[in-house]
Amino acid sequence: MHELGICDAMLKMVRGIMKDEELDVISRITVEVGSLSGVMPNFLADCWVAVTDGTELQDTEFVVEELAGTAKCLDCDAEFVADLNDLTCPRCRGTKLTPLTGRDLTLKEIRVP
Ligand SMILES: [Zn+2]
Repeated sequence: MHELGICDAMLKMVRGIMKDEELDVISRITVEVGSLSGVMPNFLADCWVAVTDGTELQDTEFVVEELAGTAKCLDCDAEFVADLNDLTCPRCRGTKLTPLTGRDLTLKEIRVP
């Protein structure tokens, strides 16, 4: 499971930050997920609950923000918001697309009480 691995890595990262910054408690973590990253936001939140269960981070609020990805058509150079369910160019219906943004998953904010 892709999301579980991501949450595991994120937990390690958050703990590293807590150690470096000498933080005992974090109230909220915000993660930004690109719509072309292949990560399911709901599933990611479920996995976070699973990996933090019984840890010092189990009560931390976990917020996933979805960022709409954009793509470019290699046939007509149109740039548009990509819809993973319909990967065709809205202008020429071409299917040769290259993603521009939205493939990343970033730890956007850690809020301290
Ligand atoms: Zn096109």
